[in-house]
This record gives sequence, structure tokens and C-alpha cells, in this order.
Amino acid sequence: MSAPAPVSVQPVSVQKYGGTSVGSTERLQHVAGRIAARAAGGDRIVAVVSAMGKTTDSLVALAGEITATPAGREYDMLLASGEIVSAALLAMAIEEHDVPAIALTGQQAGVFTDDTHTRARITRIETDRILTELGRGQVVIIAGFQGITPGSDFTTLGRGGSDTSAVALAAALHAVRAEIYTDVDGVYTTDPRIEPRARRLHDIAYEEMLELASQGAGVMHPRAVELGLLYDLPILVASSFREDVPGTLIRKQVQMEPSNRVRGIALDRDVALITIRAVPDRPGIASQVFGPLAEAGINVDTIVQNASAERLTDMTFSVAHDQAAAAHALCRDGADDLGASDVILDEHAAKVSIVGTGMQSGVGYAAKMFRALAEAAINIELISTSEIRITAIVHEDDGQAAAQVLHAAFELDEPVLAGEAAPG
Ligand code: ASP
Ligand code: MG
Repeated sequence: MSAPAPVSVQPVSVQKYGGTSVGSTERLQHVAGRIAARAAGGDRIVAVVSAMGKTTDSLVALAGEITATPAGREYDMLLASGEIVSAALLAMAIEEHDVPAIALTGQQAGVFTDDTHTRARITRIETDRILTELGRGQVVIIAGFQGITPGSDFTTLGRGGSDTSAVALAAALHAVRAEIYTDVDGVYTTDPRIEPRARRLHDIAYEEMLELASQGAGVMHPRAVELGLLYDLPILVASSFREDVPGTLIRKQVQMEPSNRVRGIALDRDVALITIRAVPDRPGIASQVFGPLAEAGINVDTIVQNASAERLTDMTFSVAHDQAAAAHALCRDGADDLGASDVILDEHAAKVSIVGTGMQSGVGYAAKMFRALAEAAINIELISTSEIRITAIVHEDDGQAAAQVLHAAFELDEPVLAGEAAPG
């Protein structure tokens, strides 16, 4: 018996449409038109959707009217309903174009997660159903942001999580890339609302995007970028409204622009600082401070411990505003046991970061950053770094100016061609 002839199957195109892009029935119809046109041209399409507009916020508020402590299982069931609504409506809207379409919940699409309700992680995707429907010539619409536990309970992936659904599905379906369609037309050197001279990037490396996303640039869910990096799956971020703008490709190698530049600047205004004063400098202190914070689910960001004079040290860390009061209270409760003299809360901080893989090999980035801030008379309260990022914490009133000054200092408003020298 001879082997079956190889069938050449066209790769699947995985697209994601965010809340704004499906924010009304008119917008859903616009998206349906785009998808139907591509499907009619022969593309095999899987589209992942968010809930319509601010639906998820409304569902969160509804739960809040009932209880301050909802059970995770029911909370996830409630939130998952938003994406089911938009998936069903989008499938109907595509059928109106005489293009066959089917909507699937996370479970029907085979998206399995662990059982960490409200921030579950995808553990595997069984693609059989999706492939069967594609084989029948259907456009497959999938409710993003949700999955199912091994025990068949709904889970959600954390706010903004439908980006992650899309990238995970693209990887599982061996798509060449994930296409994220949103209300911005790409990734910018910084938020154009902060600096109007910000420039859209043609492409950006996974690691750079990850640093920008976790330092306050809200374009993409960081976990989605992590998955892109893990599977080396390029992610296109583009506008669902403007087909003439090519968007930004998040990928491994940045090609069109030299990689030895600062690529982007993130500004995070949701920063509060907690300083524990005059802590005795002995082993175990840091774990005594951060252990209880971790147990309380408080997400600690930048941590700085000052060099100690006379075996006393100041320890400062940053948290988001909504966790500041709880973190402050915990540290005050523990201050006596620590032997600390005081715990100070400062809710008026902002965090400005420069990001670029070029920092791994280049020199002078920090000096240039600090010089630019000094010339603008902006005081730096804390500094932290990673291999490809330098972050300065400043007073919140200086945040925007700091981002603008750095955008100019690192010449991010000027497009450059490959091969040009790094700014020195
Ligand atoms: N609808 C969810 C949210 O608002 C998930 C998403 O939009 O990605 O967080
Ligand atoms: Mg979103």
C-alpha cells in the first residue's frame, strides 16, 4: 500500500479582536465584514474575541453589588459570559455575509487551564474540534479570556487575558503568527498621549515588549508576550479600524531598525512607595518583610535596600495604589518585630523606564538617562535595572516630563536606518 499523498493544508490565520473593536453591534459587523472578506479569499480563520466594550467591568461591578468576597468559581463563570456573548454575535454577523461560521466557548475550543480562578494558566489546548470545524469550511470564533479546569469549571486568565488566549491558540494551531487587532495601530516608542512625537515601531523584540508591558505600557497582556517568546511565535499588533496602517510585529530579531537603540519608554503612574526606616541589618530581614506581603497577595515591584550605616538600613519598595494601604498596614504591624523605627507611605510616585536589548552590550545608557533627567531638574528617588531596562522612580508630577525628556534624549522621534550608530 502506498502512503497517502501529502495534502497541502493552508496555515490557519489566528486573529484577536479586543473589547473596543467589538464594542457595539456596528463594530462587530465591521469586524465580521473584514473576516468574511478574508475567508471568501480562501483563508482559514480562527478569531478570538474579548467581551464587548466595558462588559467585563460591568460584570465585576455586578458581583461587587452582591458580595465583597465572591467565590472564584462563580466569579469566573460570571466574567466568562462576556466573551461568550461577543463570540456568538460575531459568528451570527459573519453568517450574514453567507460565510459559514461557528462560535465556541473556551471549553468547546479545548482550552484547558489549571484551577487558579481569576488568573488561571493555560495548560494545554486540544485542537480537534477547532480543526474539525475548519475542515468543514467554517470560520471559527472563540471566546477569549476563558478556559476550563480538568473538572469542567470555568476559569479566566486575568484581566486583558484574551491576548493570551489568542497567542496560545496560534501556537497550538501552528499559525505563522498571532494577529492582535485593537484600538491602537501598533506599539509606539512611548504612549502618544504622553509624548505626541512618539513613533510607531515597525517591529520590537519579545523581551523589549515584555519589559514595556510589565512597566506600564498597556498595549498587550505580558503573559501573551511571554508565550510568544516561549514558542517564538511572532505577534502582530495592528488596528482593527485602519487597514492602511501595517502595525507592529513583536518578534525575535528586530530587523528594520538598529537593535542597539533604546526602543521604547514606559511611564507607570500607578506607583506608591513604602519605606521601612532604620531596619537592623541582619540575615532574614528581607524575608521577614516580603514573606507576609507575598502571603497577602501583594505584588511588590522595585525593591531597594540602602547600604547600611551603623548596621541600620532603609528598605524601600513600590506597589500599585490599590495595594498600598494593605502593604503599609502589614509593614506597620511588623515594624516592632523587625525593630524598624518607622514605616512611611508615599502615594505620589511615578516610574519611568527606558527599554532596549542594546543595553546588554552597549554602554552609557544609564549615564545618558541620568544626565537628561538632571538637566531637566528632575529628582530621581529610586533606580532599578534589568539587563535591558533602566527604571527611575520620580515624583508623580515629574513623570510625564521625565518620559518626554528621555524620548528626546534618546532620539526616539527620529526614524533611523539599520547600520547607524547607537546614540552615545
Ligand atoms: N474581557 C476581559 C477584560 O476586560 C479580557 C480581555 O479583554 O482581554 O479584561
Ligand atoms: Mg484587552
